[in-house]
Amino acid sequence: MRPEKINSIYSTIATLPGIGPKIENLFNKMGIYRKLHFLWHIPYNVIKREKHSNIQDAKIDTLVSIKIKILDHKPSKFKRQPYRINCLCGNTPLDIVYFYARHPVVRATLPIGKEKIVSGKLEYFRNNYQITHPSHIVDSYSIDQIKDIEPVYTLTSGLTHRLVIKYIEKILKSLPNFNEWIDTNTIKKYSFKNWNTSILSIHNPENSNDLIDNNIFRRRLAYDELLAHQLAINIIRNTNQKRKGLSLRSKSKLISNFIKKLPFELTTSQQNAWIKIKEDLKSNNQMVRLLQGDVGSGKTLVAFQGLINAVANGHQGAFMAPTEILAEQHYMGLREMAEGFEVPDSQTLTGVRPLSIKLLSNSVPAPEKKRIIRQLKDGSVDVAVGTHSLIQSGVSFKSLSFVVIDEQHRFGVDQRAKLREHSREDGRWPHLLVMTATPIPRTAAMTVYGDLDVSVLDELPPGRIPIETKWVSTPEAVKSAWSYVREEVKGGRQTFVVCPLIDESENIVASSAEATYAELIRGELSGLRVGLLHGRLKASDKERAMEQFRVGLLDVLVATTVIEVGVNIPNASAMVVLSADRFGIAQLHQLRGRVGRSSYKSRCYLVTEDSITEDAVHRLQALENSTDGFELAEVDLELRGEGTIFDQRQSGRSDLKLASLVRDRLWVERARSCSEALVEGHGTITSNPMLGKEIEWFISARGTDAENLWRG
Ligand code: ADP
Ligand code: MG
Repeated sequence: MRPEKINSIYSTIATLPGIGPKIENLFNKMGIYRKLHFLWHIPYNVIKREKHSNIQDAKIDTLVSIKIKILDHKPSKFKRQPYRINCLCGNTPLDIVYFYARHPVVRATLPIGKEKIVSGKLEYFRNNYQITHPSHIVDSYSIDQIKDIEPVYTLTSGLTHRLVIKYIEKILKSLPNFNEWIDTNTIKKYSFKNWNTSILSIHNPENSNDLIDNNIFRRRLAYDELLAHQLAINIIRNTNQKRKGLSLRSKSKLISNFIKKLPFELTTSQQNAWIKIKEDLKSNNQMVRLLQGDVGSGKTLVAFQGLINAVANGHQGAFMAPTEILAEQHYMGLREMAEGFEVPDSQTLTGVRPLSIKLLSNSVPAPEKKRIIRQLKDGSVDVAVGTHSLIQSGVSFKSLSFVVIDEQHRFGVDQRAKLREHSREDGRWPHLLVMTATPIPRTAAMTVYGDLDVSVLDELPPGRIPIETKWVSTPEAVKSAWSYVREEVKGGRQTFVVCPLIDESENIVASSAEATYAELIRGELSGLRVGLLHGRLKASDKERAMEQFRVGLLDVLVATTVIEVGVNIPNASAMVVLSADRFGIAQLHQLRGRVGRSSYKSRCYLVTEDSITEDAVHRLQALENSTDGFELAEVDLELRGEGTIFDQRQSGRSDLKLASLVRDRLWVERARSCSEALVEGHGTITSNPMLGKEIEWFISARGTDAENLWRG
């Protein structure tokens, strides 16, 4: 039960007087859905206004509050003409000015002959004092209604500052009294004030010093935010861990036979990841593990082991990739590796049959698709590889026990949610291995992926030569890039050309790729065998282009970012990214990972034209200087802030309002250990008697996933 005192502050803003659907919508846009959310709308500035009885004392271009007497109205005669109201301040004439004013409203607010207090920026224009669009107009006896100091909040168009302040003040007046949830030691150690004091202070800044990150009230609230986040994660994790899974034995013999057939040895981190996974699988709970590893670190192989192990236990596996191209590639890779691999089958004379892997994607003809769907259901197909068509309704498995999601950040929230619905008939959940090549720094990972178990592949297979990256911007340098490509082709290697990223519809991207392709085959790449690949091609054309490139019938593949993730063509040794300044660090790193997948020396050219932003320069230089995904992720975090990380997760989780993953790394760690301490010995947070109901609702009011779990 939610305590009554919290109930009021928790209700939706529609219950506030004066908030109809239109205003509600505007507040929603700013992330304000419930009364409590007003409190998290933190001022970013503070303004001071001086009260003057004599206008001559006031400074021009400052905010003032003055008493005026309204003399006359000069309504605008055409749209762009200002509406002037002639007034007197003492004996000095002053005009109030409105643009695009609604005449009846102005007439009613400033009636002729009346005295009013107005507040706004004092201007001096053509020998005349004026105030344009005053922020406050109150009756002359209530000058106290106008504050000397006022916080400034971000707005969205359609909302006035006055309205925002009105509601924030209203909520602040009716704050419930919370019991303290931070332990006494922490409170003492950091000299925190209680929550009520802190939230009141932060909304009543006295000067800009009160707005800095290290302000004591702000610190406490930022800590609350991080703690709430960590606790929420903890709860999600707890719920996840309680989900029943299928206990799978590790078929070490089979797996090691499979590994032995590979032309290389597993890296130590690949081995370690598998050891962890094996342990997870043995338990009776569902595994939800994230496998992080830089581009080319060999994540797929770890996943394959899991799939084969599932099959060897008599169950099925699924491998979900974000694009058709990737699904197809994984399908072929998996088939090749599993060649000769046999699964137990009592129905056959020999007691075994070959492992059956099928591709389920949009490019599979309908009758074939139907057949595969039937075979997944009756269990005669062991492993399905595909795009999200794998989780479409109508697809069901006889006994799905291991699911791999590759490049999970490319899947939307809905798709992931759908996957979660895929429980088995016996009420158990298939084990889940999600893989991502977008490394994120440790503290960020704690916050964003804190609800998952994480394994990291932190080494590349031996023998890889680091990709050389060159940022080229002058015509001569660009020319040399193209002659390098020609040299590589002469030596039997292949090249990717990546078309500019255009923030437009896929149609426009496609037509730009077509144009780039046409230009290149007439110019820089004339005489070479060049193919084109973009999202708008027919599935069969895409497949053909990819296949021709794979088998070496094409020297160069001009492509959009469809090749961004996972595409594996070891013979490709060069890449030219056009308009590279339009890509982010993570994306360029991903793209670049398409080359350098063999023992050939590889090079990536980042081409820019014209002038580029300072940030872009930092990005391109970072890529020139480092091939380490984790290092680049740090740079990215510094440059772009944490918003990007939350974007990647697409968790629908509200962003941090006060704390920052970049600035507050130490605080993230502190909140993490505090949250762990709160749970320790109690099994779950909710069973910790130390914590009142407050913290629960406090967390849920932040709109995290935990909220839904709480409410069941
Ligand atoms: P990613 O982690 O980016 O998905 P992949 O799984 O596609 O990387 O692996 C990249 C390439 O490295 C593949 O060609 C794969 O066969 C190869 N590979 C994987 N593991 C090893 C290893 N231990 N030694 C050598 N090559 C490996
Ligand atoms: Mg991959």
